[in-house]
Amino acid sequence: MTIDSISAFREVNPKLPTVAVLATGGTIAGAGSLGKATNYRPGQLDVNALVDMAEGAHDIAYVRAVQICNVNSDDITADHWLALARTINEMATDPVIDGFVITHGTDTLDETAYFLNLVVKTEKPVVLTGAMRPATATSPDGPMNLLQSIALAGSPQARGRGVMVVFSDGIFGGRDVRKISTFQTDAFSASDFGCMGYMIDGVPHFYNASSKVHTIATEFNVNDIDELPNVAVAYFAIDANPGILDFLVKSGARGIVIAGAGSGCYSKAWNERVIALASSGVPVVRSSRIGAGMITHDDAYGGNLVTGNDLAPQKAAVLLRLALTRTNDPALIQTMFDRY
Ligand code: ASP
Repeated sequence: MTIDSISAFREVNPKLPTVAVLATGGTIAGAGSLGKATNYRPGQLDVNALVDMAEGAHDIAYVRAVQICNVNSDDITADHWLALARTINEMATDPVIDGFVITHGTDTLDETAYFLNLVVKTEKPVVLTGAMRPATATSPDGPMNLLQSIALAGSPQARGRGVMVVFSDGIFGGRDVRKISTFQTDAFSASDFGCMGYMIDGVPHFYNASSKVHTIATEFNVNDIDELPNVAVAYFAIDANPGILDFLVKSGARGIVIAGAGSGCYSKAWNERVIALASSGVPVVRSSRIGAGMITHDDAYGGNLVTGNDLAPQKAAVLLRLALTRTNDPALIQTMFDRY
């Protein structure tokens, strides 16, 4: 269908929304041995095949299908993020488009969701989804996840809520969602804060909203960003070599997120290196490998570190990358971690 024919059709069917489905790959587009849920290749089916598998999609929305890339989500890069965000920002200015669905591998879906939550400049719904079973498995979960996502993206109730994730009938906030299972289909959760709501037969039921600033209200604009600075996540465990911190900075990291133990803690040996790095102007964020709770300031770890709030290390890295496009000052970066 052309844009003109969609517009003409909508005049007679004003209630059917137009949803852009932007596909990036992942297991939802994966293929392997018939019936098997493992040992498959992600990113094999194209966007039209995915939409066709989501039986009923064409009855609930006009779908505008766009293939952004077709990769395993572990190969998603900042360039993909910028391309996605720019595509959404541009398409969102088209009054015909009511909302967006992004199909994405589940491994890094939570990172992309948070990035988009911080940079897209639209109140139109933006919904990410994926699958734990490839399209060739027995009972793949992708078609239902995609159908529910298209329904949510086309719903006026979903406007202005920030970027969302639909998975296994749950609606999650892009900031708080995390992958919590390596193989089960109920693979996402928002830990302490719970889901935003449920999708039941294409109808959204909302209960919760995050109070954190998102989308049109943030200070980040992808038009001002040519390249995202590199940052690294350093994972602390007993006897972890503090030399990794210097190695990461020498390898080009402009900031470090520490996945600390407990409330963002690490050994005296790491503390010495962290304080030295922070004093040399490398922003360091303390976060936790635990997956729940928040980090508060602790004098024992030096004065000019950033505390990562309740963000998982990989999400703290997303925000630190964006923060570094604006400032190196840990005090200002801290205000962003408090706000977003
Ligand atoms: N490795 C896959 C990916 O993230 C896993 C998935 O999509 O579930 O692309």
